[in-house]
Amino acid sequence: MRPPPFAYADPRQCHEVLALLAQYGDDAKILAGGQSLLPMLNFRLARPGYLVDINHVDELDGIRPLGDAGLSIGAMTRHRTVEQSALVRERCPLLHEAIQHVGHLQIRHRGTIGGSLAHADPAAELPGVVTALGATLRIRGVKGERTVRASEFFLGPLTTAIRADELLIAVEIPDWPVGTGMAFCEFSRRQGDFALSGAAALVALDVNGNVARCGLALIAVGGRPFDGNVIVTDLLKGEKPAEALWRAVAERVGQAVEPNTDIHAPADYRRHLAKVMTAKALAIAVRRTATKL
Ligand code: FAD
Repeated sequence: MRPPPFAYADPRQCHEVLALLAQYGDDAKILAGGQSLLPMLNFRLARPGYLVDINHVDELDGIRPLGDAGLSIGAMTRHRTVEQSALVRERCPLLHEAIQHVGHLQIRHRGTIGGSLAHADPAAELPGVVTALGATLRIRGVKGERTVRASEFFLGPLTTAIRADELLIAVEIPDWPVGTGMAFCEFSRRQGDFALSGAAALVALDVNGNVARCGLALIAVGGRPFDGNVIVTDLLKGEKPAEALWRAVAERVGQAVEPNTDIHAPADYRRHLAKVMTAKALAIAVRRTATKL
């Protein structure tokens, strides 16, 4: 299949991108790694009149520490760059682990973190990861910049808080306490396939070995990442880690998620997997905590 005809622009600066978006509005589409957009064009699921290629906007590329506060990852940073970053591995092992599940190596060489987040596929790994981490998305339009919390960024399947005349600039990932255990688990039919369900979990213990802080999000169990942060905090905070607690969290998650039946799996099966992935990710995260008990 060939894409429908479109005009093409290859700007070098963010303000040029924003001017084009302001001019063409809904008729324009950003082209990042093209790993989701090009198949959509070829299948005629998207018919933009104008493609704005951001591959040469250097400002959008790269991973930078935000002092002691966390990391800023530019929207055009390739999955493979994130995967191989020593900084990401050290400061956010959850992201390092999860990104290895994104498609295959060839896809990760082209695909970008901003593309994955802006595309907002309900089964994609990174939207769930940034939700569990409590990350912030930096979005820019001609009138200025705003930040949106991950929990408010994903609105539904392939729908986010980015407006037609805005550009995702970067994702800011906060540091978690030293010694936080993190884990990402997913179930997919084959390595590289989109997940049938997956969970991202974080657990930090205090000096007494009680849970001081925790995070949880699930993917592929509804139209957007399932934010389990309230459930996990409610059930775990202040408690000694124990298997019965993971089961309790998993049960609550199973009751709360609203998966759909589709050609890949029935809703009940996804619900079952969500519970299994939740308990597994939490158990591994606790095993990885570095606090001496
Ligand atoms: P593009 O395809 O270029 O863009 C995607 C969408 O985001 C477009 O609507 C575009 O306009 C918009 N966009 C991109 N960047 C910005 C920005 N900075 N600001 C505003 N809007 C923007 N993904 C997974 O998560 N898990 C998988 O298991 C997985 N498997 C895959 C398997 C195959 C065979 C393929 C082809 C893809 C797979 N993907 C998977 C998708 C892959 O991760 C894509 O790279 C990603 O979804 C989109 O990133 P991209 O940079 O290619 O974005």
